Amino acid sequence: MLKSINHIGIAVKNLDESIETFRKIFAFENIHREIVVEQKVEIASFKVGEILIELTSPINENSPISKFLEKKGEGIHHIAFETDDVNKELERLSDEGVQLINKSATDGAHNMKIAFLHPKSTNGVLIEICQKK
Ligand code: ZN
Repeated sequence: MLKSINHIGIAVKNLDESIETFRKIFAFENIHREIVVEQKVEIASFKVGEILIELTSPINENSPISKFLEKKGEGIHHIAFETDDVNKELERLSDEGVQLINKSATDGAHNMKIAFLHPKSTNGVLIEICQKK
């Protein structure tokens, strides 16, 4: 079961500049920065209520975020929904005919297990499912 929205991923070109832009809007004090080698991204996240906003920039040209920025430019990249068991959820979704990008859970930021569903199956919305380890 997908329980709640965990975070919203926003693709940005320059992480430092974006942090300052979003700081003006949300006036957050704490920001968490992390390089996620597995996803080839650096993220900076802050909380708005129970939800994280995750600014995401590529660490190299092979990053999926590089491709996204080239094709679509900056903006909302994905919405992440929390579940208790990513792999079990992937199995259920696959049975429902949903196309998956990740067949099994991989490592994400914040020590989470994550997987992406293919936007072809989800009306163009990139959906991530995630689980606290
Ligand atoms: Zn995410």
